[in-house]
Order: sequence, then structure tokens, then C-alpha cells
Amino acid sequence: MTPVARAEIVVDLAAIRHNVRTLRELTGVPSMTVVKADGYGHGMVEVARAARAAGSEWLGVTTIDEALALRASGDDGPLLCWLTVPGDDWAAAIDAGIDVTAYSVAELDEIAATGRSARVQLKVDTGLSRGGATLADWPAVVARAEQGERDGSWRITGIWSHFAASDDPDHPANDAQERVFHQALALAGGLTPEVRHLANSAAGILRPSSRLDLVRFGLASYGLDPAPGRTPDLGLVPAMTARATLAMTKRIHAGDGVSYGHTWIADTDTTVGLVPAGYGDGIPRHASNAAHVLVEGKQRAMRGRVCMDQFVVDLDGDSPAPGADVVIFGPGTHGEPTAQDWAEAAGTISYEIVTRIGGRFARRHV
Ligand code: PLP
Repeated sequence: MTPVARAEIVVDLAAIRHNVRTLRELTGVPSMTVVKADGYGHGMVEVARAARAAGSEWLGVTTIDEALALRASGDDGPLLCWLTVPGDDWAAAIDAGIDVTAYSVAELDEIAATGRSARVQLKVDTGLSRGGATLADWPAVVARAEQGERDGSWRITGIWSHFAASDDPDHPANDAQERVFHQALALAGGLTPEVRHLANSAAGILRPSSRLDLVRFGLASYGLDPAPGRTPDLGLVPAMTARATLAMTKRIHAGDGVSYGHTWIADTDTTVGLVPAGYGDGIPRHASNAAHVLVEGKQRAMRGRVCMDQFVVDLDGDSPAPGADVVIFGPGTHGEPTAQDWAEAAGTISYEIVTRIGGRFARRHV
């Protein structure tokens, strides 16, 4: 007998392909599918293959290790990584034909010291105050970049930046950052990058002026809404379903407290069910008493606190048999909650829900 998965994530790769195609068609410019953090929890290598198959010209990851893992999986297309620490293995990345990102003269010096001819993209900080050269440091970075192009240390293949508030189209930082980016490009007029890029999912969808040569689509590729309440319906399909097998049910009585701290007390006799997944598997404890799941087609409320390995749901007097299917979240098409619903229950964003779920969940791609 095939054992039933206690808890599993099912990733619909056809949904990823559909989303990548839809976004690519929407913008009309090349796409970079962002597959960092294990493909936002969906499986980096599988998502990367699906994205390439759907026409994504570029892939983007954070670390050199992630980029090397993609190369080891057989991917040989345009690939950018963007966050290094001193001592990282730049040489391995360059040998693998990965575009590396430099933020500073010091990083460019480290790249030159490898003695290899690299593909380098420069990142300018246009207002996120995170990675990238500030506008004050930018002329020195550009001068060093130009010198390196002359001596054959690298080719500057891209110049890019990242928005701080693209999920809020009315935020003044968006216009300001776009202006600074164009200023930075003007200051780098001696360089001829293949791609200039600024937009992530929300900007790519909501701010056509930011699309430039390439849009870096992360969240939207997974079918999730990067700016809830503001994004038009593009027909994107959430690719991840998290499900579990109901472990047991039991009767409890009015006045019984449920789970640690008795933060929920039954006001009538009822039946509760035990879902075998907890914060040790990435179920957010902040969703305690707030989230719902779907059990045999019916929405059931979580009761009490999420524990490390399990949480309790109210079956409202019904008694599904242990072994019943519990949909924790999914596309939302059969009445199940979505990752966005869980994010709202937990006071967070859907990015965090899908990237953190894992632990003892099995993962299957269909
Ligand atoms: N570009 C960079 C530099 C990022 O760090 C990210 C993810 O945070 C993205 C693009 C993709 O962002 P989103 O998932 O909002 O599309």
C-alpha cells in the first residue's frame, strides 16, 4: 500500500508556465523569473525548467550557490545573482557563465582579482537603502567598471536597481526611484549594458514606465498577487497547494480549552480534528485562531494556538474519518483558502507563507 503523505506541498508546474507566459505577454519585454529561496518554496530547479520552457529569457537568484546549483541542474541560459559576501567564490560563478552583480569598487576589485573575464551587472541604490551603490558612490563605481572593460576584466552586461514600495503605486518613492535610476544611467553613459532593469512583479504589472529592458518577476510567476487589492485580474494561477491528512477527530465539550494556553474555549460541544503540521513545518503561529482550512470540501476554522507539529480545527459537529484530506491552502478554486488568506490571518505577506512552508512537508511537482 502506498503510504499517504502526512503533509505535502503539491506544485502545479503548468500553472507556473501559464503565469510566466501571461506576464511575458503583458509586458512585451524579456522576463527574468526569480527562483531564489528554493523558488519561493516551490522548488528552484523545477520552477526554473518550467520558466525556461515558458519563454523566460533570464533567471534570477540571490546567491552564487543558488546560481551554481542551477548550472549543476543543467541550466545554461542567462542567469543573474545579486548578493555576495567578501570571500564568496566569484571565480566559480564566472567560470559557470553566471552574471554577477557588483555594488562597489571593492567588489569589482574582487572580481578583477579572479583574473577571469566576467559578465558583471552593476546595481545602483535608487532609494531602497539596501544593496547597491548610492548615487554618491556611483561615479567611482562607473569609472572602475569602465577601466575593467578596457582591460578585459569584464563586460558590464547590466545596470539595475530595485523598488522600495512598488506594491503601493501611489507611493512617492516609485517616481523618485525611477528618476534616480535614469540619472544613474546617464552618468554611466560610457557603458553599454545589454539590460537595464528596475521592476519586480508589482512594478512590472502596475508601472509600465519601469519595464525598461527586462522585468524581474518573482511572486507573480507563482500565481500570487504582489499588490493585493491593486492588481488587475490577469488570470494568474497560484501554483502551490499545501495539504495534509487529518490525523484524528474527537468530541470536546462546552468549556473545554483547546491547545496551548487555552486561547480558545468551546462554547458548545463540538468535534475537533487534528491537522499534523505546525510551526516546525512553516505553518505561521501568528495565524493561531485566525486561519481556515478545507476538510472534505468545507471550510473549517482553526482553534487555539498552532503548535510545533500540529494544529486543531473545528469540525462543527461533523465527523470526517481520520485520513480525510485537509487542504491548508491552494489556488482557491474549490473553496480552499489561499496563501494570501493565510498571510492575512498571520499578519504577513504571501511571500512569507510560501517560502517558509516546508519542514516535514513532502513536495511533489505535477
Ligand atoms: N528583484 C530582486 C532584487 C529581488 O530581491 C526580488 C525579490 O524580492 C525580486 C526581483 C522579485 O520580486 P517580486 O517577488 O516582488 O516579483
